[in-house]
Amino acid sequence: MHTPQTPRTRTRRWRQVRLPGQPIELDATRALRMVGRAVRRRCPSCGGQPIFEGYFRLRPYCRGCGLRLERGEADYFLGAYLLNLAAAELVFAVGFLLLLLATWPTPPWDMLEYVCAAGVVVAPIVLYPFSKTVWLAADLALRPPTADDIEQHG
Ligand SMILES: [Zn+2]
Repeated sequence: MHTPQTPRTRTRRWRQVRLPGQPIELDATRALRMVGRAVRRRCPSCGGQPIFEGYFRLRPYCRGCGLRLERGEADYFLGAYLLNLAAAELVFAVGFLLLLLATWPTPPWDMLEYVCAAGVVVAPIVLYPFSKTVWLAADLALRPPTADDIEQHG
């Protein structure tokens, strides 16, 4: 028999907000769950969506849990850019190696050159929003939100 579930409310979701100065305990299961949500472009904290306006722009707050997505720091996503660059380079290296192995012993060097050149341009653009959400998930795992990180409704 189906029983209706209580919808998650903001109040219920954020009962465990970290107090300023409270020690941080890393929960690996929670961290992996948040990264899993992040790679699906969902809010790392509650799994809600959409958290993007269009493909690239992150909303200021999550509509599901009220989490401030940019966490109030001007250069907050600098780490996301680094993560994006590393992921794009990894995609390039793995893609190049797979194409090389698939066509060995006579790799089509001209085709590889054009495909790889296009890949290094396209991959960072495609991966950009994912790097932001994964960066946010890593930050939330290491620095859980405080009350200041939650949108307050009067
Ligand atoms: Zn959320």
